[in-house]
Amino acid sequence: MNYDFSHCMLCPRECGANRQKGAGACRADDKLRVAKTMLHMYEEPPISGTRGSGAIFFGGCNLQCGYCQNAVISQKTCGEIYSVKELADEMLELQFKGAHNINLVTGAHYVPHIADALALIKPQLKIPVVYNSSGYEKPETLKMLNGLIDIYLPDFKYISRDAAQKYSHAPDYPEVAVAAISEMVRQTGGYVERDGLALRGTIIRHLVLPNLSHDGEEIMRIIANKFDGVRVSVMSQYTPDFNSPDFPELNRRITLMEYNRVLQAARRYGLDGFMQYKDSASGVYTPNFDE
Ligand code: SF4
Repeated sequence: MNYDFSHCMLCPRECGANRQKGAGACRADDKLRVAKTMLHMYEEPPISGTRGSGAIFFGGCNLQCGYCQNAVISQKTCGEIYSVKELADEMLELQFKGAHNINLVTGAHYVPHIADALALIKPQLKIPVVYNSSGYEKPETLKMLNGLIDIYLPDFKYISRDAAQKYSHAPDYPEVAVAAISEMVRQTGGYVERDGLALRGTIIRHLVLPNLSHDGEEIMRIIANKFDGVRVSVMSQYTPDFNSPDFPELNRRITLMEYNRVLQAARRYGLDGFMQYKDSASGVYTPNFDE
């Protein structure tokens, strides 16, 4: 897929970077960089199953959240350089190792490469392809993936523009995420599961942050009103690993009361989905990128 990386407008940042000469705001240049591949056991149960999800973590990220739990790979130009063919081969290798699915983690800045890799091997993949996203995506870029992704796994992080600006420098995050998730749901249709494993659909994640459970409650209401047939995943696993001195209010785990407020909202609005046990706030859910 031809994309002009000399003036990159792939994601809602629209920073216009010349990625042929250096990295954009996402810290990625025009080379495809893979930071880690693994059989990931700590996604939602229908994604990880019993054998694990075939996760491919890309270097860099277009959102650059101040509290990112994968900061060691997301906030710098890093990872092994892969060709499109090598990315496709890596997917087949994960399938061969028994992965229940291919799980492309935070690849918004590499969508043309991902689309090309999937176009090469999609008929050979007998397992679903999951696109794991920050939710900060452009619908027109997501359209490059139309027909190639079986399951979208987007975050819906904030409804407050102030929080989105403060923690991710993206005050437009709320409306961008709604538009992006709408496109994802349009592509996948309703959620389908067989034998406890996800086959198709969109699972919307919300990581509850300290002092922001009111955002979580409102996000549950919006999901119920706007998106048909989706599942939600309410996550309690926030750990203050990557502390910015600018955000002392985030330097704690969430309380049980904060988590329950969001869960109760999900129930109140009749949403189906997944929750974590409150004691999931542990680094075990964050892959070790130093291995
Ligand atoms: S993908 Fe990266 S370079 Fe392209 S517009 Fe977004 S932040 Fe800028």
